[in-house]
Amino acid sequence: MSDCLFCKIRDGLIPAKVIYQDDECLAFEDINPQAPTHVLFIPRKHIPTVNDISVEDQATVGHLFVAAAKVAKERSHDSNGYRVVMNTHRDAGQTVFHIHLHLLAGRPLMWPPG
Ligand code: AMP
Ligand code: ZN
Repeated sequence: MSDCLFCKIRDGLIPAKVIYQDDECLAFEDINPQAPTHVLFIPRKHIPTVNDISVEDQATVGHLFVAAAKVAKERSHDSNGYRVVMNTHRDAGQTVFHIHLHLLAGRPLMWPPG
């Protein structure tokens, strides 16, 4: 997708603090962090929303969770805890239409999330 912000970050056209990458995904610091750790994990494949995840994408999406858990452990959040979340459309406040798994950690996180 030529006009997708996260595809542009993936392609190096827009700068981001990339902290992890592999064949399937890329992770970078959120530009407006909501917690001491706020990292976004995106698939290299452009998938607009959770609604658009196909059966063929299952491994790719699962991979985002494996990568997020790896980074959470590296940052010693694995025992205190963390949240991984993917917002979908208006009521969840999705603003970028390339799926991304938020990793939030480093402070107590409210539940329910407002
Ligand atoms: P969502 O509301 O779930 O679609 O989340 C989009 C996230 O992308 C927000 O937390 C934004 O702060 C973040 N964001 C927007 N632009 C950038 C950018 N250029 N680099 C890093 N994060 C961004
Ligand atoms: Zn994209």
